[in-house]
Amino acid sequence: MTRSPQLRIGNGFDIHPVSTDQNRVLKLAGVEVAKGFGLLGHSDADVVCHALADAVLGAVGLGGIGDHFPPGNPEFQGADSLILLSKCMQMVTDLGWELVNADVTVIAQQPRLAEFLPAMSKTVTEVLGGPVEVKAKSPESIGALGANQGIAALASALLWRPDKEG
Ligand SMILES: [Zn+2]
Repeated sequence: MTRSPQLRIGNGFDIHPVSTDQNRVLKLAGVEVAKGFGLLGHSDADVVCHALADAVLGAVGLGGIGDHFPPGNPEFQGADSLILLSKCMQMVTDLGWELVNADVTVIAQQPRLAEFLPAMSKTVTEVLGGPVEVKAKSPESIGALGANQGIAALASALLWRPDKEG
C-alpha cells in the first residue's frame, strides 16, 4: 500500500530597527546589501534568515529561532545568521524533514533591493537545500517601515518527509 508523504507548512516574521551605528553592515539573506547603514540586533540582524528560521522550525513544531538561540546569550553576539539558519535547518532535517520550497517578502523602504534578490535567493536556497524565492516590497512611505525606521521580512516554508511506515 502506498502511503503519502507528510507535509507541513510554517510561517515566520521578523523585524529589526535601523541602527544609528555607521559601522553596521546591512545583511539580508546573508548578502551584504549596504555599508554605513544596518539594522540593530544582537546578531547581525538578518531579518530574512530569522524569518526563514522561524518558518522551518515552526512547520515541524520546534518553536522559533529565539527558543534555540536566545538573544541574551553572549555566544550569539554579532552571530552570522546564515550559520544560525543552517543550524535550525539541521534540527529540522534531523527529524527527517526536507524543504519543498520557501517564499520570502522583505519590506524595506530603503535601500532598493531588486539587484540583490537573485544572490539572496541563491544563498538561502543553498543553506536550506530547497528552492527559496526572496522578493522585496516597498511599504510605500507608510508608517514606521515607510519612514525607514526598520526592515521586516515575512517567510513561508513547506516541508515534507516520507511517511515512516512507507
Ligand atoms: Zn531577527
